[in-house]
Amino acid sequence: GQAAEPNQNRCGLLSEIKTPIKNELFTDHYTIIPGKELGRGKFAVVRKCVEKCTGQEYAAKFMRKRRKGQDCRLEIIHEVAVLELATASQRVVNLHQVYEMAAEMVLVLQFAAGGEIFNQCVAERDEAFKEEDVKRLMRQILEGVSFLHRNNMVHLDLKPQNILLTSDALLGDIKIVDFGLSRMVSSSQELREIMGTPEYVDKCFAAPEILNYEPISTATDMWSIGVLAYVMLTGISPFLGEDKQETFLNISQINISYQEEELEHVDQAAITFIKALLIKEPQNRATAEECLQHQWLQPKEKKEAEATTAVKETISPTKCPSEPASPESPIRE
Ligand code: ADP
Ligand code: MG
Repeated sequence: GQAAEPNQNRCGLLSEIKTPIKNELFTDHYTIIPGKELGRGKFAVVRKCVEKCTGQEYAAKFMRKRRKGQDCRLEIIHEVAVLELATASQRVVNLHQVYEMAAEMVLVLQFAAGGEIFNQCVAERDEAFKEEDVKRLMRQILEGVSFLHRNNMVHLDLKPQNILLTSDALLGDIKIVDFGLSRMVSSSQELREIMGTPEYVDKCFAAPEILNYEPISTATDMWSIGVLAYVMLTGISPFLGEDKQETFLNISQINISYQEEELEHVDQAAITFIKALLIKEPQNRATAEECLQHQWLQPKEKKEAEATTAVKETISPTKCPSEPASPESPIRE
């Protein structure tokens, strides 16, 4: 049946939340771990904290209500609403509590101890992701994004800083964070840049329609997934130019190289995966569900099983030779 459309305004913002907003003093209930903050964006600071009554660790996102002289409380409420909607998905960070103070609101989030996948993306090759890691993490990212898209939610800011890992010892599972630019899309109305979003979008991950002020859709996220896959595999930001204009031009002309040394040992299927996403016309891009079915992301056993169905006796599985590490790190950011 048709799901009831959640209450949203014309900018694609949700306005109803279930989480009670606490007006008590945050520091009465949480100890903020002194020292380095977990992260920081334009209007938010994220700090590690411990809930006093449970000893449980959390990440507290402190968000200013006024930004550039404008009241942004409704945007914060939207972010809360999206996190509530996504509690059903394992791939999105959990929201524990919300506090409100005079000038800020605090979103108390599940702590993702592994930090941003950005770190592995820009790491030297021996610390960088192996292709098998990228495949597993990309599957998880797609599961999260597919969940959001099934609920008519577009993230609009998918980039390595907004994909976190649950643990760092063993490469953990991913958690999608930061719904600050996310929007509800509905068939009945076009969502365009004018609504205020993409001024803050990371241009390196932005789809051509964002730069061209054309309608935004779930396909807009799929472009970013293509860029993300490229970065995770190579450490190279494929469209990054010397300046904004050059990056802009690289994106609108889809000026991208698949001849990089870093891609030499990567499965050819990874390239077809990326090419199915970095397509100018949004309607021609693969969807999240289609990506999950892509040959590149099929588990090894399944591929092997398919390859050996004709053969009665299975030959002992050959181990994939590990790739030679390239000497220098190809960071361009
Ligand atoms: P902004 O809207 O300012 O980009 P984010 O929600 O992306 O805010 O948070 C900023 C940074 O804080 C993230 O890139 C990440 O490094 C860190 N961070 C955010 N949420 C968590 C979390 N739940 N656990 C650990 N680190 C987090
Ligand atoms: Mg962010």
